[in-house]
Amino acid sequence: MSGARSQEPEASRPVSLGDFELSAIRDGIYHLDGGAFFGVVPKVLWSKKTPADGNNRVPAGLNSVLVRTGEKNILIETGAGNKLPEKMVEIFGQPAKLLEALRQEGLGPDDIDIVINSHLHFDHCGWNTVRRNGKAVATFPRAQYYVQDGEWKHAHERQRDGVSYLHENYDPLVETGQMKLLRGNQEIVPGISVEVFPGHTRDMQAILIQSGGQTACYISDLIPTSAHLDLNWVMAFDLYPLETVESRKRYYSRAIPGGWLTMFTHDPQMPWGYVERSASGKLVVRT
Ligand SMILES: [Zn+2]
Repeated sequence: MSGARSQEPEASRPVSLGDFELSAIRDGIYHLDGGAFFGVVPKVLWSKKTPADGNNRVPAGLNSVLVRTGEKNILIETGAGNKLPEKMVEIFGQPAKLLEALRQEGLGPDDIDIVINSHLHFDHCGWNTVRRNGKAVATFPRAQYYVQDGEWKHAHERQRDGVSYLHENYDPLVETGQMKLLRGNQEIVPGISVEVFPGHTRDMQAILIQSGGQTACYISDLIPTSAHLDLNWVMAFDLYPLETVESRKRYYSRAIPGGWLTMFTHDPQMPWGYVERSASGKLVVRT
């Protein structure tokens, strides 16, 4: 690893969105195989945007967003957590910095009212639970957690991406009712809603944040970084790559004319930005 690449970018300042305040926080940086991250895109192209290390790995952010609505503190996504099996720690690393990042925002686990997971792969819901006396319990004891019912069912199907699901991140919460399983698009609280965008998994949901006529969207693994804007730069992890392309078209058709702030779940540098079309028709991001 080069020094520059292992360096943590500085935390970005909170931004206002209507009456809400958004903070980009992260569980840290982990490492993904560059080939898997960029799918069929040749390395000569992707390595210009994201250089790989000697093991062909690229740095990726475990990016969460904290939304303060004035009434509720809402945490979108909970990173990789601190319970990864040893083998996965060897492959990906386990930075486990989310609680520290929350503390820097002046919040403890008791202050979180709502947790929303876009889907249940290990790198999106790891801090949902912590182990106490050998048992996984809610990290955020007062929070109501949300995910799609279809995503939770898929986690138990052990399909191609079965290795990415660690049941102790969600099953203990589903059992007690602390995690609510949603069926399709829904408003969670005024201004915060979820919308399903299939492709990465069948039931991955984006989180829409709307206040004062402005919109931000945590689009999660549909567009994981600012290097994945192109319709066809689809991750090899995606279960339904052609649906990823269709979902991206649907997303851009609203996000670009609407001037939405797009949040990137795995960008190691840029947690969010505005996707636009350049004069030549290329998709670009403006911060
Ligand atoms: Zn995923």
